[in-house]
Amino acid sequence: MEVAPALRFHLPPPRRRPALTVPADPAVTVGHVVQALGVPLTEVGQLVLDDDPVDPAARAVGARLLVPAVPAPQPAPTSPPRFVLDVHLGSLARRLRLLGLDVAYARDAADDDLAATALAEDRVLLTRDRELLRRRALSVPPRHAAFVRATAVEPQTAEVLRRFAPPLAPWTRCLVCGGPLEATTKAELGELLPAGTRRTYDEFARCARCGRPFWRGAHSRGLEEAVRRAQEVLEEMPRVIGETAHDVQGDAAQQVPGEAAPGVP
Ligand SMILES: [Zn+2]
Repeated sequence: MEVAPALRFHLPPPRRRPALTVPADPAVTVGHVVQALGVPLTEVGQLVLDDDPVDPAARAVGARLLVPAVPAPQPAPTSPPRFVLDVHLGSLARRLRLLGLDVAYARDAADDDLAATALAEDRVLLTRDRELLRRRALSVPPRHAAFVRATAVEPQTAEVLRRFAPPLAPWTRCLVCGGPLEATTKAELGELLPAGTRRTYDEFARCARCGRPFWRGAHSRGLEEAVRRAQEVLEEMPRVIGETAHDVQGDAAQQVPGEAAPGVP
């Protein structure tokens, strides 16, 4: 059995070798063999058993099983992709919303809720929980889940962008609930704004879903940097993908409403 180098970190350390030997067992499927070693099927591309492409449900009888990584960018259940994030990925949820991605996130969601939301709303569940990824319904194409390897928000964001190459629309979503932002005026927001903010800023937006006001606040500089780095990640992807990402970003850039920026009161 040969597991692609990009997937070997899922294996127990002693088994992180180019070739592994596992017993052929007609009672189990190749998918089971792969997952029993620790590699979630959501992360695996087309399995090849003795030179023939096989389904994970095929019986594990053969001489040589190749386990490639899922190709990137991978097709998602919807285009553009939508996501639902595990409870432990709150920072990533805010960052992806900043970039304009459709992200569902609730800090108290149970595993069953996460899996159900992914399937019912055709979202990709992002998680670091391999047990959750073992649910069969999530790994059947089109895959409704993906493992996030990094633990810090910056590399996590880059991982998601490289894997799904989603079109970006920075500054178009509420960081708190993910709803769309609409340009609005100081007068319309009225009492929702602290007096100091009313005096200092001129361009405002409001979340169409939760009603929170947003403006270009003191911490938007760091957020602008984060947006720039995300755009760079997509631009650095291979040319064929880079062109797609560039076109989509060009379109999205025109939808950005003014200077609307999150500055949570
Ligand atoms: Zn909102």
